[in-house]
Amino acid sequence: MNRFEDFTTRIVQQVGKKEGPISPVMVNSASFGYGDSETGEGIFEGSIKKPLYARVGNPTSAQLEQVLASMDGGIGAVSASTGMGAIAMATLSLLRAGDEIISIGGLFGGTYSYFSETLPRFGISTKFFDVDALIEVENAITSETKVIFLESVGNPNMRLPDIATIAQIANAHGVALIVDNTTTPMSVLPLLLGADIVVYSTTKIITGNASALGGAVVYRPIAEGEDKFKSERYRDIQPFIQKMGAMALIAVAKKRALRDFGMSANGFGSYLTMLGLETLPLRMDRIVTTIESVAGKLSEAGFVVNHPCLADHPHHERYKTQFANGCGTIFTIDLGSKEKAFEFLNRSKLITITANIGDSRTLGLHMASTIYRDFDDATKAFLGITPGLVRISIGLESAYAIIDDFISASKI
Ligand SMILES: *Cc1c(COP(=O)(O)O)cnc(C)c1O
Repeated sequence: MNRFEDFTTRIVQQVGKKEGPISPVMVNSASFGYGDSETGEGIFEGSIKKPLYARVGNPTSAQLEQVLASMDGGIGAVSASTGMGAIAMATLSLLRAGDEIISIGGLFGGTYSYFSETLPRFGISTKFFDVDALIEVENAITSETKVIFLESVGNPNMRLPDIATIAQIANAHGVALIVDNTTTPMSVLPLLLGADIVVYSTTKIITGNASALGGAVVYRPIAEGEDKFKSERYRDIQPFIQKMGAMALIAVAKKRALRDFGMSANGFGSYLTMLGLETLPLRMDRIVTTIESVAGKLSEAGFVVNHPCLADHPHHERYKTQFANGCGTIFTIDLGSKEKAFEFLNRSKLITITANIGDSRTLGLHMASTIYRDFDDATKAFLGITPGLVRISIGLESAYAIIDDFISASKI
């Protein structure tokens, strides 16, 4: 049985309708008529569930939110204009000046500069740790720590976190755990491992074909009895818990982030995202299988490959046990120098050179001259960015075609 079998069945049923239009109905109106003033009052008050204004909710995006929430076992989701929008939403709705973030592993370049350059301007600081520095993480938690942030797979360092153990630490200290699961949707289910919030850039493998920018945040319910979000640490969200109960984190995100910052998804983008989402289990299954044969064969052919399916990777055991459904579409190869990396990419007939990941096509990018070009040497070393490093995102092509192309592109 294919490891994504259950998702294959559920997602196509949830995206398509049995009556009327089968493909999701694409609504792209910015505003919505209320009909009469009493209905308008009811919509604003919340007693009537109809669209208010597209910045705070769109019917097509609402369907996408339901499918994503069900995929991750959350109570609900809020879609966003981009993955960075989703990260901003998930964090800003919990944080205020003076708060601290603990960031573990990773880290995507945009997230790193958001944490290290932008948030400090608003009095929010971040400490960065390796995925295995869990004692240091525990010691760094203070009463001002509101968020522990984690990427499910280090991009591009390919280090794998022990998500369940990190969730135990977050829960023991009453701190929210946010997991950026962009690279491993359906393969890793962070809420089931004890995380509170999952963020996605749906731009990547979820849509899968570079047709739409998008993001989403999936939330767990607030528990009826004890819950860490009911503590003094999260005093700002107590009014939402009193009013909205289990759905409080979604209400906070909509009010604090969507309404006031406006990183809202649009109907057309959400429509395209759902068309991608319905084939995600099939694409994921193929790519996580292809990536193992490509990484293995290239490594045998003498490439310096970084992927945890290889026996010499420090997280090989964790890959086999906690990442049994694969760790997404990316791996890196180190060609030794910038010149060799450029030559390889330019000679390949198959690689599309771009900053994206998670596409139907195999993509590649030299890291130090692009996404990480403005980072100082110490930061590059921390993030694992060496001069010859090329990040590859495997697509739907045949493993044999990819291996042949890479081997011929590397021969001078
Ligand atoms: C691409 C990416 C983001 C940002 O997503 P955008 O849709 O480009 O804003 C965030 N996190 C990870 C891991 C990513 O790969």
